[in-house]
Amino acid sequence: MSQTADTLFSKIIRRELPSEIIYEDNLAIAFKDINPQAPVHILVVPKTVIPQLSDAESQDHALMGHLLLTVKRVAAQVGLTNGYRVVINNGEDGGQTVPHLHLHILGGRFLKWPPG
Ligand code: 5GP
Repeated sequence: MSQTADTLFSKIIRRELPSEIIYEDNLAIAFKDINPQAPVHILVVPKTVIPQLSDAESQDHALMGHLLLTVKRVAAQVGLTNGYRVVINNGEDGGQTVPHLHLHILGGRFLKWPPG
């Protein structure tokens, strides 16, 4: 898919919808989740639309690494020094609701395991 594909998160990337942006570079953006499940809940989203993790291809290798390093950078930026959780919901059974790959950063409290 292309950088201009029309998803909810593409509209946020294009500033057509408001969001609280925490970080942005040429490949990715990070913004606060509108319905936070923890004191800190940030989404890290590639600017190129990959609908879900299971659609990623070998050509996305560098981007996938970049997304994880962006998680690390953003977590440090917002002061998550005591740990945090990174979640990717994939597809229907994974609980994914927005078909544009995104990594959840959850932190600011102790997170129980396993999730629901
Ligand atoms: P998923 O369930 O697909 O893994 O996660 C989608 C996330 O996007 C949810 O946590 C949801 O709260 C968040 N979300 C949905 N719509 C918006 C929106 O318009 N703005 C922001 N910032 N987050 C959204």
